[in-house]
Amino acid sequence: MQIDALSLFPAMFDSVMSASMMWKAQERGLLAFRAHDIRKYAADKHRQVDDTPYGGGGGMILKPDVLVRAIEAVRPSSATPVILLSPQGRLLTHQLATELAQLPQLVLVCGHYEGVDERVRQLAITDEISIGDYVLTSGELAALVLIDAVVRLLPGVLGAKGAADRDSHADGLLEGAHYTRPHTYRGLAVPAILTSGHHAEVARWRRRQALLRTWQRRPELLKSAHLSEADREWLAALTDRQPPNASP
Ligand code: SAM
Repeated sequence: MQIDALSLFPAMFDSVMSASMMWKAQERGLLAFRAHDIRKYAADKHRQVDDTPYGGGGGMILKPDVLVRAIEAVRPSSATPVILLSPQGRLLTHQLATELAQLPQLVLVCGHYEGVDERVRQLAITDEISIGDYVLTSGELAALVLIDAVVRLLPGVLGAKGAADRDSHADGLLEGAHYTRPHTYRGLAVPAILTSGHHAEVARWRRRQALLRTWQRRPELLKSAHLSEADREWLAALTDRQPPNASP
Protein backbone atom coordinates (compact mmCIF):
# COMPACT_ATOMS: atom_id res chain seq x y z
CA MET A 1 0.00 0.00 0.00
CA GLN A 2 1.19 3.53 -0.72
CA ILE A 3 0.18 6.36 1.62
CA ASP A 4 1.09 10.00 0.96
CA ALA A 5 0.32 12.51 3.70
CA LEU A 6 0.19 16.27 3.11
CA SER A 7 1.04 18.29 6.17
CA LEU A 8 2.40 21.60 7.43
CA PHE A 9 4.40 19.59 10.00
CA PRO A 10 5.70 16.50 8.19
CA ALA A 11 8.22 15.83 10.98
CA MET A 12 5.27 14.92 13.23
CA PHE A 13 5.07 11.60 11.36
CA ASP A 14 8.69 10.62 11.95
CA SER A 15 8.62 8.98 15.37
CA VAL A 16 5.43 6.96 14.88
CA MET A 17 6.34 5.83 11.38
CA SER A 18 9.82 4.72 12.44
CA ALA A 19 8.72 2.49 15.34
CA SER A 20 6.94 -0.82 15.98
CA MET A 21 4.56 -2.21 13.35
CA MET A 22 4.50 0.91 11.15
CA TRP A 23 8.27 0.61 10.75
CA LYS A 24 8.05 -3.16 10.20
CA ALA A 25 5.37 -2.70 7.53
CA GLN A 26 7.76 -0.46 5.61
CA GLU A 27 10.75 -2.74 6.22
CA ARG A 28 8.76 -5.69 4.86
CA GLY A 29 7.83 -3.72 1.73
CA LEU A 30 4.12 -3.77 2.62
CA LEU A 31 3.83 0.00 3.05
CA ALA A 32 5.41 2.91 1.18
CA PHE A 33 4.84 6.04 3.25
CA ARG A 34 5.79 9.64 2.50
CA ALA A 35 4.97 12.84 4.37
CA HIS A 36 5.00 15.92 2.11
CA ASP A 37 5.37 19.51 3.24
CA ILE A 38 2.43 21.58 1.99
CA ARG A 39 4.58 24.71 2.25
CA LYS A 40 6.74 23.43 -0.61
CA TYR A 41 3.79 24.03 -2.94
CA ALA A 42 3.34 27.71 -2.03
CA ALA A 43 4.22 29.87 -5.03
CA ASP A 44 5.17 33.19 -3.39
CA LYS A 45 8.54 34.02 -1.86
CA HIS A 46 7.14 33.95 1.71
CA ARG A 47 5.75 30.46 1.16
CA GLN A 48 2.36 31.56 2.42
CA VAL A 49 -0.03 28.65 2.96
CA ASP A 50 -2.88 30.34 4.85
CA ASP A 51 -4.88 33.55 4.87
CA THR A 52 -7.62 35.29 6.83
CA PRO A 53 -11.26 34.24 6.27
CA TYR A 54 -13.54 36.23 3.98
CA GLY A 55 -16.26 37.78 6.12
CA GLY A 56 -13.96 38.05 9.13
CA GLY A 57 -14.27 35.94 12.24
CA GLY A 58 -10.63 35.32 13.05
CA GLY A 59 -8.41 32.28 12.56
CA MET A 60 -6.54 31.31 9.43
CA ILE A 61 -7.67 29.16 6.51
CA LEU A 62 -5.45 26.94 4.35
CA LYS A 63 -5.35 28.46 0.88
CA PRO A 64 -7.05 26.52 -1.94
CA ASP A 65 -4.42 27.25 -4.62
CA VAL A 66 -1.56 25.90 -2.48
CA LEU A 67 -3.40 22.85 -1.16
CA VAL A 68 -4.96 21.80 -4.47
CA ARG A 69 -1.55 22.15 -6.17
CA ALA A 70 0.01 19.98 -3.45
CA ILE A 71 -2.70 17.32 -3.74
CA GLU A 72 -2.42 17.20 -7.53
CA ALA A 73 1.36 16.89 -7.29
CA VAL A 74 1.42 13.92 -4.86
CA ARG A 75 -1.74 12.03 -5.91
CA PRO A 76 -0.44 8.94 -7.72
CA SER A 77 -3.47 8.71 -10.01
CA SER A 78 -6.86 10.35 -10.50
CA ALA A 79 -8.40 7.19 -9.01
CA THR A 80 -6.51 7.52 -5.71
CA PRO A 81 -8.82 8.51 -2.82
CA VAL A 82 -7.91 11.85 -1.24
CA ILE A 83 -9.02 11.88 2.39
CA LEU A 84 -9.26 15.06 4.42
CA LEU A 85 -8.89 14.43 8.15
CA SER A 86 -11.71 16.46 9.62
CA PRO A 87 -13.90 16.51 12.74
CA GLN A 88 -16.80 16.81 10.25
CA GLY A 89 -15.99 13.56 8.44
CA ARG A 90 -17.50 10.10 8.81
CA LEU A 91 -16.27 8.34 11.91
CA LEU A 92 -13.28 5.98 11.66
CA THR A 93 -14.36 2.48 12.70
CA HIS A 94 -12.90 -0.99 12.33
CA GLN A 95 -15.24 -1.52 9.38
CA LEU A 96 -13.98 1.63 7.63
CA ALA A 97 -10.34 0.75 8.38
CA THR A 98 -10.93 -2.69 6.82
CA GLU A 99 -12.33 -1.07 3.67
CA LEU A 100 -9.40 1.36 3.41
CA ALA A 101 -6.93 -1.52 3.87
CA GLN A 102 -8.18 -2.98 0.54
CA LEU A 103 -7.01 0.10 -1.38
CA PRO A 104 -3.60 0.29 -3.09
CA GLN A 105 -3.05 4.01 -2.45
CA LEU A 106 -4.31 6.78 -0.21
CA VAL A 107 -3.59 10.50 -0.01
CA LEU A 108 -4.23 12.00 3.44
CA VAL A 109 -4.65 15.76 3.86
CA CYS A 110 -3.99 17.23 7.29
CA GLY A 111 -5.72 20.50 8.05
CA HIS A 112 -4.55 23.12 10.51
CA TYR A 113 -5.76 26.47 11.95
CA GLU A 114 -9.50 26.88 11.24
CA GLY A 115 -9.34 24.27 8.49
CA VAL A 116 -9.25 24.34 4.69
CA ASP A 117 -10.91 26.61 2.12
CA GLU A 118 -14.21 24.99 1.05
CA ARG A 119 -13.06 24.83 -2.59
CA VAL A 120 -10.38 22.31 -1.64
CA ARG A 121 -13.21 20.01 -0.57
CA GLN A 122 -15.09 20.67 -3.80
CA LEU A 123 -12.14 20.25 -6.16
CA ALA A 124 -9.76 17.74 -4.66
CA ILE A 125 -11.14 15.84 -1.65
CA THR A 126 -12.95 12.55 -2.22
CA ASP A 127 -13.69 11.64 1.42
CA GLU A 128 -13.55 13.15 4.92
CA ILE A 129 -12.79 11.07 7.99
CA SER A 130 -12.96 11.99 11.67
CA ILE A 131 -11.29 10.03 14.47
CA GLY A 132 -13.86 11.17 17.05
CA ASP A 133 -16.20 13.87 18.19
CA TYR A 134 -13.61 16.31 19.49
CA VAL A 135 -11.31 18.84 17.83
CA LEU A 136 -7.55 18.46 17.47
CA THR A 137 -5.16 21.29 16.69
CA SER A 138 -4.22 19.75 13.36
CA GLY A 139 -4.74 16.64 11.26
CA GLU A 140 -1.42 14.83 11.75
CA LEU A 141 -2.41 12.90 14.87
CA ALA A 142 -5.68 11.91 13.22
CA ALA A 143 -3.81 10.80 10.08
CA LEU A 144 -1.45 8.71 12.22
CA VAL A 145 -4.40 7.05 13.97
CA LEU A 146 -5.95 6.24 10.59
CA ILE A 147 -2.65 4.94 9.17
CA ASP A 148 -2.04 2.69 12.17
CA ALA A 149 -5.60 1.32 12.18
CA VAL A 150 -5.38 0.54 8.45
CA VAL A 151 -1.79 -0.67 8.08
CA ARG A 152 -1.96 -3.21 10.93
CA LEU A 153 -4.75 -4.91 8.93
CA LEU A 154 -2.57 -5.40 5.84
CA PRO A 155 -1.70 -9.10 5.41
CA GLY A 156 1.80 -9.79 6.78
CA VAL A 157 2.11 -6.71 8.99
CA LEU A 158 1.22 -8.34 12.31
CA GLY A 159 3.42 -11.33 13.09
CA ALA A 160 0.79 -13.96 13.97
CA LYS A 161 -1.60 -14.90 11.16
CA GLY A 162 -5.11 -13.75 11.98
CA ALA A 163 -3.92 -11.73 15.02
CA ALA A 164 -6.02 -8.71 14.02
CA ASP A 165 -9.09 -10.95 13.69
CA ARG A 166 -9.03 -11.62 17.44
CA ASP A 167 -8.89 -7.95 18.44
CA SER A 168 -11.79 -5.96 19.79
CA HIS A 169 -14.27 -4.83 17.10
CA ALA A 170 -12.99 -7.29 14.46
CA ASP A 171 -16.09 -9.47 14.84
CA GLY A 172 -18.20 -6.82 16.50
CA LEU A 173 -17.29 -7.80 20.09
CA LEU A 174 -14.77 -6.50 22.61
CA GLU A 175 -11.95 -8.92 23.34
CA GLY A 176 -12.05 -10.73 26.70
CA ALA A 177 -9.45 -10.76 29.50
CA HIS A 178 -5.81 -11.83 28.98
CA TYR A 179 -3.38 -13.35 31.51
CA THR A 180 0.34 -14.12 31.49
CA ARG A 181 2.94 -15.23 34.09
CA PRO A 182 3.14 -15.16 37.08
CA HIS A 183 0.29 -17.60 37.69
CA THR A 184 -0.67 -15.81 40.91
CA TYR A 185 -0.06 -12.11 41.40
CA ARG A 186 -0.96 -10.33 44.64
CA GLY A 187 -3.38 -13.11 45.48
CA LEU A 188 -5.07 -13.07 42.06
CA ALA A 189 -4.74 -16.39 40.23
CA VAL A 190 -5.17 -17.08 36.53
CA PRO A 191 -8.59 -18.73 35.82
CA ALA A 192 -8.12 -22.52 36.07
CA ILE A 193 -9.55 -23.14 32.60
CA LEU A 194 -6.55 -21.42 30.99
CA THR A 195 -4.11 -23.93 32.47
CA SER A 196 -6.36 -26.95 31.83
CA GLY A 197 -4.96 -27.81 28.40
CA HIS A 198 -8.51 -28.23 26.99
CA HIS A 199 -8.29 -26.11 23.83
CA ALA A 200 -11.97 -26.30 22.97
CA GLU A 201 -12.94 -25.33 26.51
CA VAL A 202 -10.45 -22.45 26.48
CA ALA A 203 -11.89 -21.22 23.17
CA ARG A 204 -15.41 -21.40 24.59
CA TRP A 205 -14.36 -19.54 27.76
CA ARG A 206 -12.72 -16.82 25.66
CA ARG A 207 -15.81 -16.41 23.53
CA ARG A 208 -17.95 -16.06 26.64
CA GLN A 209 -15.53 -13.56 28.16
CA ALA A 210 -15.81 -11.47 24.99
CA LEU A 211 -19.61 -11.65 25.12
CA LEU A 212 -19.61 -10.76 28.80
CA ARG A 213 -17.25 -7.83 28.42
CA THR A 214 -19.18 -6.46 25.44
CA TRP A 215 -22.46 -6.77 27.30
CA GLN A 216 -20.99 -5.03 30.34
CA ARG A 217 -19.19 -2.20 28.55
CA ARG A 218 -20.77 -1.68 25.13
CA PRO A 219 -24.10 -3.56 25.09
CA GLU A 220 -25.20 -1.69 21.95
CA LEU A 221 -22.50 -3.54 19.97
CA LEU A 222 -24.31 -6.85 20.53
CA LYS A 223 -27.10 -5.73 18.20
CA SER A 224 -24.80 -5.83 15.16
CA ALA A 225 -22.25 -8.47 16.25
CA HIS A 226 -22.09 -11.86 14.50
CA LEU A 227 -23.59 -14.13 17.17
CA SER A 228 -24.18 -17.88 16.98
CA GLU A 229 -27.26 -19.55 18.44
CA ALA A 230 -25.07 -20.72 21.36
CA ASP A 231 -23.88 -17.14 21.94
CA ARG A 232 -27.46 -15.89 22.03
CA GLU A 233 -28.57 -18.58 24.45
CA TRP A 234 -25.65 -17.90 26.78
CA LEU A 235 -26.28 -14.16 26.69
CA ALA A 236 -30.00 -14.64 27.33
CA ALA A 237 -29.20 -16.73 30.41
CA LEU A 238 -26.65 -14.14 31.56
CA THR A 239 -28.89 -11.13 31.11
CA ASP A 240 -31.71 -12.93 32.96
CA ARG A 241 -29.36 -13.38 35.91
CA GLN A 242 -27.77 -9.94 36.40
CA PRO A 243 -27.76 -6.30 35.28
CA PRO A 244 -24.94 -5.22 32.86
CA ASN A 245 -22.88 -3.44 35.50
CA ALA A 246 -22.72 -6.37 37.95
CA SER A 247 -19.45 -8.31 38.10
CA PRO A 248 -19.58 -11.82 36.61
N1 SAM B 1 -12.69 24.70 12.49
C1 SAM B 1 -12.74 23.27 12.23
C2 SAM B 1 -14.14 22.77 12.56
O1 SAM B 1 -14.74 23.29 13.48
O2 SAM B 1 -14.60 21.80 11.93
C3 SAM B 1 -11.71 22.53 13.06
C4 SAM B 1 -10.31 22.78 12.62
S1 SAM B 1 -9.12 21.91 13.56
C5 SAM B 1 -8.61 23.08 14.73
C6 SAM B 1 -7.72 21.82 12.48
C7 SAM B 1 -7.57 20.53 11.73
O3 SAM B 1 -7.39 19.45 12.63
C8 SAM B 1 -8.71 20.10 10.87
O4 SAM B 1 -8.69 20.76 9.62
C9 SAM B 1 -8.48 18.60 10.73
O5 SAM B 1 -7.53 18.32 9.71
C10 SAM B 1 -7.85 18.25 12.07
N2 SAM B 1 -8.80 17.64 13.02
C11 SAM B 1 -9.27 18.22 14.14
N3 SAM B 1 -10.09 17.40 14.79
C12 SAM B 1 -10.16 16.26 14.09
C13 SAM B 1 -10.86 15.04 14.25
N4 SAM B 1 -11.67 14.82 15.28
N5 SAM B 1 -10.68 14.06 13.33
C14 SAM B 1 -9.87 14.26 12.26
N6 SAM B 1 -9.19 15.41 12.05
C15 SAM B 1 -9.32 16.41 12.94
